[in-house]
Amino acid sequence: MNRVSRYSHFQPWRDGYYIAFNSRTGAVALMTEANYQTYLRLVDKLSNDGVVTGLTPPELELLKQLEYGLFMYRESTDELEALKFQHGMVRYDMTKLGLVLAPTMACNMACPYCYESNKRGKMSPEVIKSIVSFVDKQARSLDQVDVNWYGGEPLLAMDVISELSEALIRLGKEKQFTYTSSLVTNGYLLTREVVDRLVGYHVSVCQVTLDGPARLHNQKRPLKNGKESYDTILENLKYAATKMIVSIRVNVDKSLEAAAIGELLAELRQANLQSKVAVYFAQLEPASISCAAIAETCYDNAGFSDVEIDYSRLLLDQGFRIEKLPRPSATFCMVHRVNAFLIDSEGFLYRCWNHVGDTDKSMGNVRDKINYQHPNFTRLFSFSPFEDEMCRDCSILPICMGGCPAQRTDQGLVGEQMCQSWKHNLTPMLEIIARSRQQQVQVTPKEQV
Ligand code: SF4
Ligand code: SF4
Repeated sequence: MNRVSRYSHFQPWRDGYYIAFNSRTGAVALMTEANYQTYLRLVDKLSNDGVVTGLTPPELELLKQLEYGLFMYRESTDELEALKFQHGMVRYDMTKLGLVLAPTMACNMACPYCYESNKRGKMSPEVIKSIVSFVDKQARSLDQVDVNWYGGEPLLAMDVISELSEALIRLGKEKQFTYTSSLVTNGYLLTREVVDRLVGYHVSVCQVTLDGPARLHNQKRPLKNGKESYDTILENLKYAATKMIVSIRVNVDKSLEAAAIGELLAELRQANLQSKVAVYFAQLEPASISCAAIAETCYDNAGFSDVEIDYSRLLLDQGFRIEKLPRPSATFCMVHRVNAFLIDSEGFLYRCWNHVGDTDKSMGNVRDKINYQHPNFTRLFSFSPFEDEMCRDCSILPICMGGCPAQRTDQGLVGEQMCQSWKHNLTPMLEIIARSRQQQVQVTPKEQV
């Protein structure tokens, strides 16, 4: 049975082209006006029982390409049902274990918006042992263990990273699961020697935050000893980007203006990093009571989506790739994956990155048996976008999946307040993505439908 996808978007672009996008597959393609008209004819020719008959050879050829990107599909199940099934498979998948590990809660920076800045403590040998034993207990049923190093500043506890990485890699070889790893760091301690060690520990992706150009970053992200950090970070990134995938996160609030983004990009170009790093913009949020002080300067989801368009255009104009793409994902984040945990330096287990170190929001300790009935587990896990009428009817459900669960539960956001920036800026962002692709490569016939 042929069906027309409810997740397809077509928008006129330029020179007679249309941009075609499907949120279920993430396929973005350029379509000629003639092919767009053929698509409309195909939809017309679809009979009530889902059969398209009497097709000309060009129509047949286009149908094949449309099916490839799931713009039209042949499935007996409705695609919302298929999506729900996929979501369920990932939600309850016990063959993958996702761990976000904070080997220390201490940090060498003193950013005013950070909820972790005054924390201390490093993982004790007992906590390290408990984490290894926690993984070992379920190792037989695991295909993959993915560790993301987080903090505090994880590189302040490089000895813990070494010990745990070596133990988990050894366990993976013994019990035959794949071990992958990534890192979130402020970048100050990411020296050549550290990068080489991390690569040996399978760390292949690294995320570093720069809060604007040197003059602003040094104010917003000073070291605890009062020294500036920007130049050292940039120097470190030059080597790191030759060994790992490096993405630069730029936290955006109302105090960061377009001119400052332009300056930052110019500085990255000067360091010859424009083709080596991915830059993306993240919405700064008042994640906890301790950072409620910054709430006034934060954008809401809709406000952020506007500036994201302007800043993405700047990226493109300065020769950077657009890395933030509307990609489908079975869940919004780790909260909806039963086998994903954040573990802090004392062994407390959390379900959300923003809760780290706030033991009131923990769901127990890695030393103990996991309690899946713990209110801090069920509170976030229980929401399903498939039970929300607005999300069920939404044409970008596959790339949003109902938004950040903590915004619903902790911040009490509802309805459209939950919608991620794609809901507000998909049309202009698709234009930017299409321009970005044109700049990178000549559009190949395969990408044209
Ligand atoms: S609930 Fe929201 S803040 Fe927490 S990990 Fe998920 S996306 Fe991030
Ligand atoms: S939160 Fe909004 S954008 Fe996301 S799936 Fe629901 S309706 Fe769609």
